[in-house]
Amino acid sequence: MIGDSRSSRHGLTVWRPIAEMNSSKPGQLIIISGPSGVGKSTVVRKLFEVCDLPLELSISATTRTPRTGEVDGDDYLFLDPDDFAERVQNGEFLETAEVFGAGEWYGTLEKPVRDLLAEGKQVILEIDVKGALLVLQRFPEAMTIFIHPGTTEELERRLRGRKTEAEDKIQQRLAVADAELEMAPQYDHIIHNENIEATARAICGLLSKTGEQKSCTTN
Ligand code: 5GP
Repeated sequence: MIGDSRSSRHGLTVWRPIAEMNSSKPGQLIIISGPSGVGKSTVVRKLFEVCDLPLELSISATTRTPRTGEVDGDDYLFLDPDDFAERVQNGEFLETAEVFGAGEWYGTLEKPVRDLLAEGKQVILEIDVKGALLVLQRFPEAMTIFIHPGTTEELERRLRGRKTEAEDKIQQRLAVADAELEMAPQYDHIIHNENIEATARAICGLLSKTGEQKSCTTN
């Protein structure tokens, strides 16, 4: 590939295509992770309300069943497993992960993300820690933000409180949460989500600046 090699803070070297290097208004990729139930989706919705930046949310694809009220194309692109697998074969995904290890796949489609970045948008990926690592291999310059519940007890309380999962699914999600929380120190920023709006504003503050160092914010 014709391009310019550069290394990043993640210790990886990437080749950037000439077209990307010449973009006058480069976009920014932002990865937001955190265990299921921590309130990521609510925080991200609030972020769009309170933050006056050119933000766009990447709509993930998933093979999981829609919850009541979820809209295909808005919340997720709900795909049947064959369609998902075919798109994997066709190389359409930037990353995929079987998040809870139970045959439910999630993935970020690459083209919409690249198109938005080319338009100079700040593109938010709300994805799990496995997906985040895969994206960082391709976009080492992405900003990573981990939303933390404080304690696992608090996480369990929130997960049960939202009443969207049956007991077996809650147990599955709690089992995965410990591993996810262990990954938090690898993120650029950790935000303890005690208050939705304060967390959204803290993220907006981070996105308004560049060259941020690792930080831990409590609200
Ligand atoms: P839920 O089923 O509650 O909507 O999402 C469960 C988990 O899947 C969340 O922790 C979320 O971050 C993660 N997730 C959603 N979309 C994607 C995606 O495209 N890729 C990956 N790797 N994880 C995702």
